[in-house]
Amino acid sequence: MTAEIRITPSEQKNNTLTCRSCKSELSRIPRSGFVKFFLFGMPVKKYICYKCSRKTYRWASPK
Ligand SMILES: [Zn+2]
Repeated sequence: MTAEIRITPSEQKNNTLTCRSCKSELSRIPRSGFVKFFLFGMPVKKYICYKCSRKTYRWASPK
């Protein structure tokens, strides 16, 4: 069992986000070490759209 804290952004529904260009589902991808260093402690999550290869960062703002 893994203890994981999930912060749900207000715009997020059913744990899925949609691409702004093609409206398809975004997939969560792990941040790179470089980005992780800069965004350490910040609730920013990286997502990718496999349909149009668009990467986006979403701010996981607390409720
Ligand atoms: Zn897309």
